Order: sequence, then structure tokens, then C-alpha cells
Amino acid sequence: LVSRKQKPTNTIIRIGDDVIGDGSQQLIAGPCAVESEEQVFEVAEQLAKHGVRFMRGGAYKPRTSPYDFQGLGLEGLKMLKKAADAHGLHVISEIMTPSAVESALPYVDIIQVGARNMQNFDLLKEVGRTNKPVLLKRGLSATLEEFMYAAEYIMASGNEQVILCERGIRTYERATRNTLDISAVPILKQETHLPVMVDVTHSTGRKDLLLPTAKAAYAIGADAVMVEVHPFPALALSDANQQLDFNEFDSFIENLTSTFPAL
Ligand code: PEP
Ligand code: MN
Repeated sequence: LVSRKQKPTNTIIRIGDDVIGDGSQQLIAGPCAVESEEQVFEVAEQLAKHGVRFMRGGAYKPRTSPYDFQGLGLEGLKMLKKAADAHGLHVISEIMTPSAVESALPYVDIIQVGARNMQNFDLLKEVGRTNKPVLLKRGLSATLEEFMYAAEYIMASGNEQVILCERGIRTYERATRNTLDISAVPILKQETHLPVMVDVTHSTGRKDLLLPTAKAAYAIGADAVMVEVHPFPALALSDANQQLDFNEFDSFIENLTSTFPAL
């Protein structure tokens, strides 16, 4: 079902008047985690100021340590939706378990399946039974074939609206948090008909690499880029080192739009 051989035309995801996968370049931005209503309202205002249409924010956080902030859960999702609605933005948020899918549906426009859950087959089937687009992230050590099979699970359950997200893979290189596999973008575009995006924050883990990797992503054909933005990154409850503050986000957008004016 994911194969371009079966369906030569691009799959286009429409959310309201906004589109992912039609050849335009979208930006998805927002904090790593929803921390408070005030925080998500501040971020939503900045996104709207720049004409960004999609706001991300984790309410269910898959953390390496059980002692780290685990997210605000459904209450966090409600805050995110409220802030996004106030500025006319669409909501993207990760759901980690099949049982949390149904209660989340009223508050999300795109359901994210995180890297750690790329092969959570019950979750893939459950999101496949919804009518919301699914942003599927590549697993930490997943081959592209495994990644495409994960998308196949969602489609085989009846949901054809899948967006593939390259977010870096684990290699021996330690200069970046993960290794951005940029060639995954054209390969996935050739092999599948699905929109493909690049998460520059989690793939690099480095603020100084967000702009060059975002440019590379668009230049190589990505339909969207995801980047994390936080009012006070140093105080963030997760990913404090790599989120942009508002000034940095301003220059990130200015730089990107000077290279990609249609953004
Ligand atoms: C995220 O986007 O919030 C996230 C946890 O990313 P990943 O699943 O790619 O690690
Ligand atoms: Mn993060």
C-alpha cells in the first residue's frame, strides 16, 4: 500500500486549508513537551507571527529515564489544543499507547507515533483505525524497509494518511545526538507515495545544526521540517540543549525564508 509502484501519484495530506505533500514546504514547530498553558500560548503566538501552521508539543513523553518528566498527559493535550485554537494552528502530538488514542482524538489534528514506538504494532493498528493523519517517525535503529513496513501497518488498518519522518538513526558517530540520514528523504520519496519530513532537532541534538540541516532537508525534497521551540530552553523539562528560543527562532525562519521564499 505504501509503494509508489501501486500508486504513482503523491499522497497529499489536507488539514483545513493547509496541505502537506503537494510540493510546498511546511514547517512544524513547538516545544519538546507541553509544560504549562502559559508556555504553549507563548509558543503559539510566535508560530502564528511567522505564519507557521502546525504546532507540535509532547503531552505523553517517551523518556529514557523513568525519573525524568513524563509529560502532562491528556491535560497537556487540552492545553496544547486551546493554545493552537487561539491562533488557528493545527496540533501534532505523540500518543504512546493504543488505549490513549481514542481520548486524544478530539485534541489532535495529526497523531505522532514516536521513534521508540515505530514497531509498536498494536499502536500502529490502532492509529490505523482512526481518520486522523499519522506522523510516523523512523525508529532509532530502523532500516528504511522496516520503516516502510511500519507505515504499511497503518495503511493496512485502513488509514491512508501517513507522513514519514526521518529523525536520525543511531550510529557510532557522537558529534550529533543521532545521525541524520538525509538520503532517506529521496529514497522514501521514490519508493513510496507518502509525504516525507525531517525532524532536525532530534536528528542533530544541536542548535547550531538546525538551520543547515533544515535547508538540506528542503533542498533534497522534504515536504516538511520539524523543529523545537521553547520560551526558555535552558529551563525546559526535556531537550533543554537543543530547543530554539524565540530570538533564535526568528533568525532560523528569516534565514530559511531567504533561501526558500515560498515557506
Ligand atoms: C518528539 O518528537 O517529541 C520525540 C520524542 O521524537 P523521537 O520519537 O523522534 O525521539
Ligand atoms: Mn524533544
